[in-house]
Amino acid sequence: MSALIVTSHPLQRAGAWAVAVLAKRADPGRVSESDLDAVASVLAADLVAAATASKDSTRYDWWKVLFALYPNSKATHSKRPSDPNVLRPDIESLFVPDTPGTATVRPCTFCATSTTVVWAKSNLPLFDTSKALNALPPGVPGWPVCRGCRIAMWALPYGSWVTAGSATVLSSDEADTEREFARRNVLRARRVMQAGFTGLPAGARPELVVLVALRDATDGLCATTLFSFKNDNQEPWLRVTRMRRAVPAFLATVDGNALLRRGWQLLRRALNCDDAQGRTTTSGAGEAARLLFEAEDGRSRPLLGQLHRLLADADGPWSLRDREALVRLAFTYAEEVFGMETDLEPVATLIADWIAQGSSPRGRLAEYRKAALSDYQLGALLVQAYTRLQLNGHETPLAGPELWKPLIQRQPRAWEQRMLLFAQVSVILQQRGVRVSGKTADSEQEREIKALLDRPAFAEDHGDEYDGYYDYEMEQS
Ligand SMILES: [Zn+2]
Repeated sequence: MSALIVTSHPLQRAGAWAVAVLAKRADPGRVSESDLDAVASVLAADLVAAATASKDSTRYDWWKVLFALYPNSKATHSKRPSDPNVLRPDIESLFVPDTPGTATVRPCTFCATSTTVVWAKSNLPLFDTSKALNALPPGVPGWPVCRGCRIAMWALPYGSWVTAGSATVLSSDEADTEREFARRNVLRARRVMQAGFTGLPAGARPELVVLVALRDATDGLCATTLFSFKNDNQEPWLRVTRMRRAVPAFLATVDGNALLRRGWQLLRRALNCDDAQGRTTTSGAGEAARLLFEAEDGRSRPLLGQLHRLLADADGPWSLRDREALVRLAFTYAEEVFGMETDLEPVATLIADWIAQGSSPRGRLAEYRKAALSDYQLGALLVQAYTRLQLNGHETPLAGPELWKPLIQRQPRAWEQRMLLFAQVSVILQQRGVRVSGKTADSEQEREIKALLDRPAFAEDHGDEYDGYYDYEMEQS
């Protein structure tokens, strides 16, 4: 029987994968008792080093991570011993094997393996808050936790994306993605321990780690969920975001197509923020990755909405090729991720004709931009455009009301269709050379885009550099 069982509990699961990575095993099911011994001594050594680090050292940053997850544990308590030799036995005792004999045997809280050890909530990550619902049944002295799960629960910060106050874990139906996410986070954890958080690139995000992990692990269907936890003893929170199953296939399509790659790079570039010194404060790559996740509470910024904002910017700096790339990206996402099949060409042509024939195309485009996402206003504008073009004796047949219907009715994905319609209108206008913008793309921007296009679409700008630098050899510790 395996010494470690991976369960569906998101924290235990992330910790179990971290144990597998630390033990250099392909998956948690291959972790042996002696692997647990080795991982336990790694954890103990790191915990003692963090707990006895001076407050101004970079080592102390790892203590902040531990404090956020286990605020009242022996390693983080304000009255902990400052002498490593005094603290070490306390820490090591957390991970010792069960001692069968007189003690009562109970099933482990997480994996149901028999265990004699019962833990207080102070040893369990994120359990020790007044808000969490973790009351024990009457007569139970604490949480029974088997050795594999005890070690997993303390390996959690290695396998999750941590900040000084939060942890993000991943659950995926693809084991390779979970392993890759854990592997990258273990490397990142090593880096935090050695150089502190200031040693990490600014603005990176867990969503980007998922994208890179997905690219390495799968190009098929794969549902991925991120759970972000914060525990500051006052306002603990949990945020759940999901990536749709078809997103990996969409990413593979983008990776394999030059126009779509260009669109993705433009999106990244538009979302990047630098400070006055030119240092990145918000990583465009991270923000773009975030758009592929939808929050469970509905409060997230979807990819199509962001592309719409970029395309709707009247003075946006887009060359025709840029615009075509962004529009293609929006349509590909709608087709592959939402399964939308749309032929918006006739209706888009109707609106483009109406805009182009006005005395001020820029003014008409502004009118359309205002109405574009509203079912009612778009309906009114289509009636106006259709009537005006008919009165003007339009030569070619016009798209009639039966073609607008899906766009102006309240039905699923009508909002997305209206955004795609706008995208298509904007590209038709630019293809025809209709002057609607005050500006044109400059050559400096063109050079920047060319430089970006030399890189693969989803390579984490900073992530790959971890590989090798801190390749951690467990045997050495
Ligand atoms: Zn267990």
